[in-house]
Amino acid sequence: MKQNKTLRNILDEYSEKRFLSEQKAEEKKKEIYSKNINLENIEKQINLKSIHKINMLLQNNNEQVEKIDLEINNLKNEKEKIMKNLNISSKSFLPHYECNICNDTGYIRKGNKTIMCNCLKQKIFNIEYNKSNIGNIEKENFSTFNELLYSDEIDENLNISPRENIKIIKKISENFIKNFDDPNEKNLLFTGNIGLGKTFLCNCIAYEILKKGKTVLYQTAPVMIDSILNYRFGKQDSSINIVDNLINVDLLIIDDLGTESLNSMKLTELFTIINSRLLNQNNKITKTIISTNLNLNNIFSIYNERIGSRIIGYYNICKFIGDDIRLK
Ligand SMILES: [Zn+2]
Repeated sequence: MKQNKTLRNILDEYSEKRFLSEQKAEEKKKEIYSKNINLENIEKQINLKSIHKINMLLQNNNEQVEKIDLEINNLKNEKEKIMKNLNISSKSFLPHYECNICNDTGYIRKGNKTIMCNCLKQKIFNIEYNKSNIGNIEKENFSTFNELLYSDEIDENLNISPRENIKIIKKISENFIKNFDDPNEKNLLFTGNIGLGKTFLCNCIAYEILKKGKTVLYQTAPVMIDSILNYRFGKQDSSINIVDNLINVDLLIIDDLGTESLNSMKLTELFTIINSRLLNQNNKITKTIISTNLNLNNIFSIYNERIGSRIIGYYNICKFIGDDIRLK
């Protein structure tokens, strides 16, 4: 089974990663101790006293327990003081995990259930769906966003320059990121000709949302719809529930809407995804970005009123204008 194999590979990586961090921490500790024999002695004493304390606890010898607690506390203070003088934080002894939510185990406890940590979910999404799509994310983020690529000449019809326009869209995107968990914050529709930076901006946003520890799934509309149908018809490995993932991922980016071939079944599937994501099922806030070369009129005529009205009602419409910036 494909996902099981993917999952197994990732979990192997995780355990390797954990082992290396723990080993590194242990080495660092040894190194620090080798230079400060006092620290090592104190730690040994603390360990011995802790064992002694357990014995006393078993014997119900409260007087001794209290005495040992005091001694341990003094030793800890002493250790703290030495470390402070050496400019070492107590954190230096702890392993440095990549994900400090699950400590690189991939799983966390929620209530009395064990669930997948977002870092693990995202790893699976990247392998199964995102592939190279958000591979550009290291290059395409707000730090490389350049509004100067857009002309500052005012468009007579629209009464705004492409540069002013993209600045407004950037601001809307930043608010979208900031208010991601606010149910009243709308989704985003990026519309406009190709080469105006729509996918680039999607990547900028994905990068920031991933930094928040949330999950992001990127699909072009044709690939997304085909994968849903393949799943429905059992052509795809059923262990990967793409529909479930498309509905539940924190941020879904549907790129290139309008480049897919359509029929009524595909329309229904598309509506299901767009609509389900608006319902905030299980009190989970999910957001969607749709990017398309179509304008709103096209969307209403090509899709249907059901899809069009969801977009009008629940999406901030960002119209990209200007000349192709890819040549610049
Ligand atoms: Zn994690």
